[in-house]
Amino acid sequence: MKTGKSVRLLTLYAAMALSLCVGGVASAANAAASDEEKVGDAAAAKILGSMKVINNPTAQTYLNTLGASIAGLTVRANLAWRFTIVDSADLNAFAAPGGIVMVTKGLLKILDSEDELAAVLSHEIMHVVRKHHYNVIVRQRLADELTQKMAASESNQSMNALSNVSSVIYARGLDKSAEFEADFQGIQLLAKAGYDPAALIGVLEKLSKIQAGDSRAELLFATHPAALDRMDQIARINSESLPSTSPSALRKTRFQTFKSAL
Ligand SMILES: [Zn+2]
Repeated sequence: MKTGKSVRLLTLYAAMALSLCVGGVASAANAAASDEEKVGDAAAAKILGSMKVINNPTAQTYLNTLGASIAGLTVRANLAWRFTIVDSADLNAFAAPGGIVMVTKGLLKILDSEDELAAVLSHEIMHVVRKHHYNVIVRQRLADELTQKMAASESNQSMNALSNVSSVIYARGLDKSAEFEADFQGIQLLAKAGYDPAALIGVLEKLSKIQAGDSRAELLFATHPAALDRMDQIARINSESLPSTSPSALRKTRFQTFKSAL
């Protein structure tokens, strides 16, 4: 059994590995980091758990550049956005407070275009912009503190405590309304970034064809509304209000280079 200390060290190590791999700021160790960033670092470490981030600078740089260019169009452009590829065959993507977005290698491999990747990133970016996870974690943390009659002091906000609070939300998932909001606003962001707003439908069509018992999608299916439900909701958007675009040759080439580097 792991001791409390070794769990803390592991968590810290995972957070540091994430920061190093994506070239971000090691805000966990930075006293000036905002509460949202501290919560995000702890959540990211918890999500990573025993998984590793991939050691592939070419693919990593591409994802980070693409993600940062899209996130830069949001009202929270000044967050320390970090996008990273998790070395896992699972089909999933995660957003952690403060600007951390992680996509599994398994999900990247089933995508067919930069537009589809931009759709996945836009959905996750909107979770961060709308503080979907952060607000739930903060509410839960407050409830835990009240339950345990603990003062809301800085000492209670250790990486370990935050990590435990965030693990619940990442295992259970957000409310459906938050997922639909990330879809709707993600599509608007996708269009703003010059990508095909229909690309999210393309991704959801792929997910809808994954069998219910497929272990690669177990966590995704447990934490998100069914792909067909999401497609139904998206169909309510007035698509005529969004520009349609076709992928440029440059986008096709660089996406293929990225995929073959994975
Ligand atoms: Zn989501």
